Amino acid sequence: MAYYNDKTILFLNGEFVKAAEAKMDFYSQSLHYGYSVFEGIRSYKTVNGETRIFKAVEHYDRLQQSADALNMPYNWTTEELITATYETLKRNNLQDAYIRPVVYAPANMSFVKNNESFITIEVWEMQPFLGDKLLRIVMSSFERPNPKAFKIHAKATGHYVNSILASQEAKGKGFDEALLLDMNGHVAEGPGANVFYEKDGKLFTPSLGNILAGITRATVLEICEELGIPLEEKLFTADELKQADAVFYCGTAAEVIGWESLDDVKFPRPWKETLSRIIQDAYKHRVIEKEYKPSLELA
Ligand code: PMP
Repeated sequence: MAYYNDKTILFLNGEFVKAAEAKMDFYSQSLHYGYSVFEGIRSYKTVNGETRIFKAVEHYDRLQQSADALNMPYNWTTEELITATYETLKRNNLQDAYIRPVVYAPANMSFVKNNESFITIEVWEMQPFLGDKLLRIVMSSFERPNPKAFKIHAKATGHYVNSILASQEAKGKGFDEALLLDMNGHVAEGPGANVFYEKDGKLFTPSLGNILAGITRATVLEICEELGIPLEEKLFTADELKQADAVFYCGTAAEVIGWESLDDVKFPRPWKETLSRIIQDAYKHRVIEKEYKPSLELA
């Protein structure tokens, strides 16, 4: 995947520079210790033809909270970063894009706090998710990081070593993606997505505590509330999940994507006949600011 070419512009500490010419410090504490925080955001071309960053405030607020959690100085406002992001999109002529801000540390081989941080915002083309090919998921041999070892509510780069290991293991076994448990054996989340399941007309998702508080997860909760779909946040086991009518992952990059099976145990209800599919449709409409009128005879 080519993330940039000779013309690509990125935002770097208040300036717009060519990605191919941008420099960062090879002695950065971030490179050596996986100590930085980041976001994964999407922009969409709306039905009116405008470029809209979906949940921009929520994402940049979370970036600040992640930096605070890791004791990283953070001298930007959500407002100025949103403005910088729209400008970066414009300079790269992008509407449907993935947006990746990263806050990173200066040169520092010790573990002491820094007096400053740096920021880059990179954007690349990403079309809205179209197909709904269902995922084949496998239980990971890896657990999610223990919240007593990491500030797991922070979106820190170092945490993603766990995601990479789990995802590579799953793909190596011929599956599409992994599912990880928390340290107590409850279902936690995927390497880069939150999980929901549907059973007898109701949705369930792991309660917060041992997972990343996904912005898409929060959007799904909003959609359920608006459409009157019953939803419960609770801890549950993989065995419980295997009894579900339908399951889906959700995240900024993945959007809402259904599962075919977990450990080759298929979910019985045809995706088209699930409430989960209604949520997927509602989400697809919401990101492009298109009105959504569900046919709710299912609910
Ligand atoms: N969990 C993990 C571990 C993730 O990396 C992501 C992606 N940021 C999510 C959940 C979903 O979060 P969001 O909906 O905010 O993208």
